[in-house]
Amino acid sequence: MALRLFNTMSHQKEEFKPREEGKVGMYTCGPTVYNYFHVGNGRMLVVFDMIRRYLLYKGYDVTFVQNFTDIDDKIIKRGQEEGRDPLELAQDYIGEYFKDAAALNLMPASIHPKATDHIPEMIEIIKGLEEQGLAYAVDGDVYFAVDKLPAYGKLSGRTLEDMQAGARVEVGERKQNPMDFALWKNAKPGEPFWESPWGKGRPGWHIECSAMSLKYLGSGFDIHGGGGDLVFPHHENEIAQAEGYLHGETFARYWMHNAFLTINQQKMSKSLGNFFTVREILEHFPGEVIRFYLLGTHYRSPLDFDDENLRMAQKGLERLQTSIRLADEALGRQGQNSADAAPEQKLRAAAEEARREFEEAMDDDFNSALAYASLFELGKAINAHVQAYPYSSEGLLKARATLWELADVLGFDLAKPANQAEAGNQKLDQVMELLLEVRAIARKKKDWEMSDLIRDRLKDLGIVLEDTPQGARWTLR
Ligand code: AMP
Ligand code: ZN
Repeated sequence: MALRLFNTMSHQKEEFKPREEGKVGMYTCGPTVYNYFHVGNGRMLVVFDMIRRYLLYKGYDVTFVQNFTDIDDKIIKRGQEEGRDPLELAQDYIGEYFKDAAALNLMPASIHPKATDHIPEMIEIIKGLEEQGLAYAVDGDVYFAVDKLPAYGKLSGRTLEDMQAGARVEVGERKQNPMDFALWKNAKPGEPFWESPWGKGRPGWHIECSAMSLKYLGSGFDIHGGGGDLVFPHHENEIAQAEGYLHGETFARYWMHNAFLTINQQKMSKSLGNFFTVREILEHFPGEVIRFYLLGTHYRSPLDFDDENLRMAQKGLERLQTSIRLADEALGRQGQNSADAAPEQKLRAAAEEARREFEEAMDDDFNSALAYASLFELGKAINAHVQAYPYSSEGLLKARATLWELADVLGFDLAKPANQAEAGNQKLDQVMELLLEVRAIARKKKDWEMSDLIRDRLKDLGIVLEDTPQGARWTLR
């Protein structure tokens, strides 16, 4: 079936037709790195990761670019507050980003460009805009002249008259029109700066995404995404910059925006201070559960954050995991289920039906919430089957493989425990395995001091080691 997606530009669902057969170029506006990311940012990240995974499932070769904004007012301010170099601070939070991203099972982007690595590309575009009369410089600042671009406002559906009605020029700005926006900012004392044709300065916020998406994906790339707060002004301005620079060529074909994660019906945001970082939530729930919760609502519907919803997500994920466990137990048992072929037929049909419904839901603007229903149905069919027919069979193998695969398309590993205690146990097993390996190496080198130290310290922790001919074993006292 054809994939349809909601394009913010046309305000309707459209059939997805990529620029190039079989290939998708996708860009999303990633985090501004001056803190751990919050679960609202997490929603955007998980949503576009799910979209990317489904495109891969459909057979597309996907190039996925997600930037890091590593220079802006907030990063500079945080650096000043902490007495640190803002660029170093941003780099640290990029490192932290990858830890939380892994917990949410986000695939790393094909390319994760950083704004500060693309200053020459940004300067190139600004120069091009200036040459065309779409930008003007005033005392080291450069502004985009919105009224020189007739199409300005096409994404957000605003007219310049509407926009100007509420706008005013801030003190110190030298704009010709209140809606003009900064492409380049003159350096203030103590701030990081780069050399440019307009003197020492730094880029405005919007220009980085035009520069980096065009560099890695070229003009007319397929999908540009981000949270709904970015439609105006950020994406509107990205379009103005890119299409101005490209003499009217299309910048991106489809614009996709996720709805907000809210808290008491208010947008979760760093500036309002009403946020929970993913790092904090991971202390109480595994990343898989957070992901399951975030995809349990269609990406264009608002989602309110609360603990109860997370607990419900945990239960839902556990149900699917239980079906996999029950199937695996039955698949490990040899025996005669039934002389009648009908039950197996029925299970096979359930698996096919689940895949059909899953694809139908996902083809309809990536309706992951509806896709969950097909997974639960298949899980139920597996549970009922193994209860009546507890032995291995081809039909069961197929149903199990289908459930596993479809969950994987949404980014869930159904073998990962959805429960913190179990997750802890699994980690303990892994850490113990590592310690025993270290101890075995020590023993091989006849480093008895190290080997005994490990054994004695573990004993203090209530973990008893026993050396057997097959290697060391451990038990909890
Ligand atoms: P920021 O770090 O604020 O630049 O945001 C990074 C990404 O997260 C952007 O694509 C935002 O649109 C998105 N985002 C920010 N807050 C929320 C929220 N409460 N719900 C959903 N997406 C959000
Ligand atoms: Zn952007």
